[in-house]
Formats: sequence, structure tokens, C-alpha cells
Amino acid sequence: MVDDLSNAVCAGSKTAIARALNLVEDRREASRGEVAALLDTLARAPRAEGGHRIGLTGPPGVGKSSLAAVLARSLRALGRTVGVVAVDPTSVRSGGSLLGDRARMAFDPADAGLFVRSLATAGDAGGLSYAANAAVRVLAAAFDVVLVETTGVGQTETDVEHVADTVALVVQPGSGDVLQFLKAGIMEIPDVIVVNKADHAELARRTVSDLRGALASARAAGITEREVAIVATSARDATGIDELVTALDTHRAELDGEPLEERRLRGAVAWTLGLVRRAHGEHGVTGLGGAGALRARIDRDLRGDSSPLALSSALGLEYLSNVRAPH
Ligand code: GDP
Repeated sequence: MVDDLSNAVCAGSKTAIARALNLVEDRREASRGEVAALLDTLARAPRAEGGHRIGLTGPPGVGKSSLAAVLARSLRALGRTVGVVAVDPTSVRSGGSLLGDRARMAFDPADAGLFVRSLATAGDAGGLSYAANAAVRVLAAAFDVVLVETTGVGQTETDVEHVADTVALVVQPGSGDVLQFLKAGIMEIPDVIVVNKADHAELARRTVSDLRGALASARAAGITEREVAIVATSARDATGIDELVTALDTHRAELDGEPLEERRLRGAVAWTLGLVRRAHGEHGVTGLGGAGALRARIDRDLRGDSSPLALSSALGLEYLSNVRAPH
């Protein structure tokens, strides 16, 4: 059953993808084994290993949804298939998934090589993180590129850097706060910075140059050593999108091989640790040796033949049996 579903997902069947997404979101105890088996099988799909997971993150209103739609269109025109996950931690407040709906409207439902899923869980950042991780892993087996769009600056609730190979921070012209965050090292330095709404040409030019300055300061202060591509786009006019694709591809090409494996492993370690923390709280983490030791152990086990879901379940059982055992 898992093999059939996995094969159909890898073949790009939208019905199968929708079923797989429903299955991985089913968090009942009884489904756990099946979900773990499915994600394990999907992780070995050639497309999952070779594909590109791109995170688009940034403050609300900068044009991430609009950009995701335009970027997806360009990638499709290049012959690449695209899965989009729109994660909306803010929509929980309005009770719906506005961002997802808007994004969905901008995509062509008849296109077999394009799939859009929006995620919002009521007030539960941990649940959102689980759903985003699981959805990205399903879509990565089915599509050449997975775009994960999420609201946030710096510490995002879903930790997009843990699910993406390439993190693109989207800002709009005149984003002074983001500049300050970058300069002060409060914010993770992204892999690519996108100044969207560059149809405001003069302000956009100034913002690009301010960002260059902020990154130079961050390098001088030892916060980062990296050169980060800065691309000006207009999702409204569909300009700068080719440059954005080039910047994203260049980053992915630089990662190819071991750096990519290491980055994905770091993401899987963070997810596993998050799963343990979510199930058993800080007590669970402490009971299993504390975050540092636990992270090292998870890293070692995932380099073996374990996987996040199976490992977090095993760790949970170990914690519970320690707690219950008489001292
Ligand atoms: P998100 O919250 O970051 O996903 O932003 P949206 O994609 O929903 O866009 C927020 C608003 O900015 C909408 O009214 C868009 O029409 C507008 N917008 C998006 N991209 C551009 C752009 O490139 N130029 C201009 N002028 N407006 C844009």
C-alpha cells in the first residue's frame, strides 16, 4: 500500500499526492508506522535527492505569494515541475488561510506539473512545523522544485532553513528594520535576498545598495563570510525573475554533493529534536541527555539508517521507559 502510493506520488499523480499529504497529516498513533514508511520511501526517490527546495520568507505584505506564483510560472516555462507549500502562521488569527487561497488563485489548476498546498494550523507552531516538514518531503518526491512560502523574519515559526536548501529572504524597498537585523546578526543571513516591488525603481535601487552595505558590515563584524546574491524583482511586472532563478540555481549548484547532504541532515536533526520536544516537552529533552547531547546522538543515528519519525518515536519510548523505571 505504501509502495503503491509512493510510486504514484513519484509519478506526479495529483490524487496520490493529495492522499499522501492527508496521510502524513494524520497524526494518530495507528497511522504512525505507515507515515514513517511512506516518508522513508519518498526520501529515496531520485527526484527528492536531486531536487531543489526553496524557501521564500519575509515580512507580511512584501509580495511573497505574488512572487511565488510568478516564480513558479517561470520555472514551469523552463520545463521544471513545481510544488508549492504556502505556510501561513498568521492566518490562524483570522481563522482561515487567506494567503494560501490567494496563492492558489494565481496558479493554473489544469497544469499537471504544478501543485499548491496551503497549511495553517490553529495556533500551534509545532503542528505547523510538522505539517510543513512532512508536506515538503512529499512534494520533493513528486516535483523538481518545491517552493515553501512562509511569513516571518529571523526566527520563523516554521524554521524555513530546516526545510529549504536555499532560503530567499524577500523584502520590499525601504525595509530598514531588516537591514538593522542583518547588520546586528539578529537575523540569520539568508542565501539570497530579494528586493521585491522593484517597480518602485529609485527606492529599490537604494535598498539594494543599503543591503550590500549591511552585508559588508556583517562580514566585517565576522557575522558571516558569505557573499549573498541580492536580486531586485517586481512580481507585479514579472521583472527580475530570470535573475532570481539564476541566483537560486547558483546557490543550489554550490551546494551540490556533500554540502547539500549536510544541510538536509541538519534540517532532519532539527525536525527530529522538534518532534521529541513536541511530544515530551523540555523534560523529554533533558531526560534524554539535554539538547546538545541529544542533537549529537540524533545526528549520528540519522547518518545511519534511521529517519526522523522512527527515531523520534524510539527516543520517546526510551524517555518514557526511563521515567517509569524505578530508580
Ligand atoms: P505576502 O504577504 O508577502 O505574500 O504579499 P502578497 O503577495 O500578498 O502581496 C502584498 C501586496 O503587495 C499585494 O497587494 C500585491 O498585489 C502587492 N505586490 C506584490 N508584488 C508586488 C510588486 O512587485 N510590485 C507592487 N507594486 N506591488 C506588489
